[in-house]
Amino acid sequence: MTKKIAVLPGDGIGPEIINEAIKVIECLRDNYGFAVELENGLVGGSAYDETGSPLPEQTLALVRDADSILLGAVGGPKWEPLDYSVRPERGLLGLRSELNLYANLRPALLYPELEAASTLKPEVVSGLDIMILRELTGGIYFGEPRGVKTLENGERQGFNTLVYSESEVRRIAHNAFQIAAKRNRRVCSVDKANVLECTELWRDVVTEVGKEYPDIELSHMYVDNAAMQLVRNPKQFDVMVTGNMFGDILSDCAAMLTGSISMLPSASLDENSKGMYEPIHGSAPDISGKGIANPLATILSVSMMLRYSFDEAGLANRIDQAVDKALKQGLRTADIASDNTRTVSTSEMGDAVVSGLQQS
Ligand code: NAD
Repeated sequence: MTKKIAVLPGDGIGPEIINEAIKVIECLRDNYGFAVELENGLVGGSAYDETGSPLPEQTLALVRDADSILLGAVGGPKWEPLDYSVRPERGLLGLRSELNLYANLRPALLYPELEAASTLKPEVVSGLDIMILRELTGGIYFGEPRGVKTLENGERQGFNTLVYSESEVRRIAHNAFQIAAKRNRRVCSVDKANVLECTELWRDVVTEVGKEYPDIELSHMYVDNAAMQLVRNPKQFDVMVTGNMFGDILSDCAAMLTGSISMLPSASLDENSKGMYEPIHGSAPDISGKGIANPLATILSVSMMLRYSFDEAGLANRIDQAVDKALKQGLRTADIASDNTRTVSTSEMGDAVVSGLQQS
């Protein structure tokens, strides 16, 4: 059946990197029978400029109707003076909540050719391949009550609520075990069960769900130790699953183990594996329009879409291998260039991946 992909280029380098991802999708369509329909929509600052909203009704209709969404990036200095309610980032948050994208997948994969980009020693990070799974729509970022109040003595007090219901933990735990089944069969659940009752429940529920997956190894780790272990010996991890705030912090830490945010894709999934796929980096206004942005995180987001939403692991592997091949050929965009590599533009990198795909 033809898959409908809503394409939301967004702001800054968004349109440039999305162009290259589209070339890759079209190559799969033309060479490998991937039946796909693409439709563009507005989001972020560019949507605000045209419609007065960072997430116009037309875009909402488009994404509701699509099988998956491919997003570039949003934001930029131009829109910083705007009221929070219409800032570009509201477009992203709106998409996540509108589509109930509760499972955020953040791989941290280090390519052998880019080992030097990591600030850690090569022996600590070489071969690194971690998947961090972050619960995205619950926890302390959404819990009520929240706010800042003034006490009787005149002092102000800020408060937020960490809340997770059993069903929220259960569904993300299932995702973790199912993803691990496609990888190295290990799940590490991260909590702070020694201090926070809410995460004690988290641990209980993950343990219960784990019994349904007897061939996946489950371990638990306190978040402070997890942060330490990620830097000390990151290769011990396969899939890490955790709540919204811990996942926010740990996934950025894991990303930096690879040294290059411009190489890392991400996915946010709903209960039916419909997903929004995007690079983890932002709109990079400092290099926008120069044709030098690295499109690989966006291209790898397409690979994740094929793997996690469309069950097309074969096509996903082809993209991963084509990216690998381009790097092995010594091609680099400026952000990842080093001695003995050839610096290429955004579109040259996209073309190299397409050519690798055609030959695979
Ligand atoms: P950023 O990720 O846009 O850029 C950080 C640095 O990395 C910059 O020097 C940039 O040039 C470089 N960089 C990022 N992606 C690159 C790529 N593909 N190729 C080459 N170099 C790349 O983060 P920032 O500068 O903090 O934020 C810029 C804007 O992006 C802000 O408005 C921010 O709110 C927004 N933002 C959006 C998202 C998103 O859309 N998901 C995420 C983060 C930041």
